[in-house]
Amino acid sequence: MRLQRLSLTNFRNFARLTLDFPRPITLLQGDNAQGKTNLLEAIYYLATSRSPRASTEREVVNWLAFKEPLPFARLEADLAGADFPVKLEIILTRQANQTNNVPRFSKQIRINGVARRAFDLVGHLPVVLFLPQDIHLVTGPPAGRRRYLDATLCQMDTAYCRTLMDYSRVLTQRNALLRDLRERGNRQGGEQLRFWDEQLVTLGSRLTVRRAALLSALDEEANRQHRVLSGGRERLRLRYTSGITDRLPAAGQQLALDLEGIVGPPSADVDQVVALFQEGLDALRRREVAAGMSLLGPHRDDVRFLSEGRDLQAYGSRGQQRTATLALKLAEVAVMGRELGQPPLLLLDDIMSELDGARRQALLTLLSSIPQAIVTATDWEDFSPAFRAQARQLRVVEGRIEEIVA
Ligand code: ATP
Ligand code: MG
Repeated sequence: MRLQRLSLTNFRNFARLTLDFPRPITLLQGDNAQGKTNLLEAIYYLATSRSPRASTEREVVNWLAFKEPLPFARLEADLAGADFPVKLEIILTRQANQTNNVPRFSKQIRINGVARRAFDLVGHLPVVLFLPQDIHLVTGPPAGRRRYLDATLCQMDTAYCRTLMDYSRVLTQRNALLRDLRERGNRQGGEQLRFWDEQLVTLGSRLTVRRAALLSALDEEANRQHRVLSGGRERLRLRYTSGITDRLPAAGQQLALDLEGIVGPPSADVDQVVALFQEGLDALRRREVAAGMSLLGPHRDDVRFLSEGRDLQAYGSRGQQRTATLALKLAEVAVMGRELGQPPLLLLDDIMSELDGARRQALLTLLSSIPQAIVTATDWEDFSPAFRAQARQLRVVEGRIEEIVA
């Protein structure tokens, strides 16, 4: 579906905003600290019920709103394109109970006026967001890459999102038990641990297989994009590394190959992963109790970016890392479009200025092939006059939007 209108009340530095998106491409220009990223964040938030950068709901509520007796924020998106229009709403209201005088906000999601859960947003407004700091996907710690896989899958697959929530709950419980066993000097754990093992293995195997399948699709697509971007000089490969499948060298290799081949619903290999996961836990029993935490499972997995077989995190130049990030994002658009049967809305935040001619061209080609994109920049010079002419051009100034009349 297309985003037709965005309305914000008290979101970040937008006290009040109503903005229509009549053209496929919207360009938002603005100096630093005017609200460009805030606007893209609002759209991402509506699409996924999560902010890509805030850690609490409170952070996104306009500071001035805190002076009001009942501070709140409201985000609304009007979508068009399917048989009937859809309205997504997120409302943040201050809760009565506060901790240490810090106000807490509760989040309510509505679809067409009816209260819904976060899962219900899946499929309404798929988005791909590309931020300048996304290079951290290549250079940063593994947790960021796991979050990326989870966020991408949660937009495509409600079942994955539910399994992920259940898995985190089980992991917390199991870790608490392991800490308890350590304190009591019980190295075996017994029945209680076996109960949590079974849950961890069942849920964790589903996550592992689904992530590996996504990665195999992203790998293929990113490899193709990267060949174009690097003029065929380098080969990029993405690899999912999992303690479960890497544990047993021979079986692990075989399984890794099997998982790479998965396209479509990845159910076939869950049984194999379940068996390996359980074996792994049995072998790690004493170490897990000694550590007081779970040492095996998708919460420890990672993704590697390889160029000509070498790890880009350790050996890549800045330019190579940036190109790999761009290839990944282009792949994400393609894979998401294919899986959901509709291309995602592309949100590009101030990334043109970092790209050289060839890479910029690749991105502009992509923009012309997808139905909707919103692109921010500090300089109009980032775009050719012809490109600007076909887009809706807006300027962001201190939380307000001004139309540029060409
Ligand atoms: P840059 O080009 O530097 O990336 P930007 O236009 O993307 O700038 P934003 O990140 O959107 O800037 O932030 C705009 C302003 O919003 C910042 O000055 C920031 O301090 C302010 N801001 C952030 N959170 C809130 C909030 N909760 N309430 C009010 N203002 C906020
Ligand atoms: Mg910004």
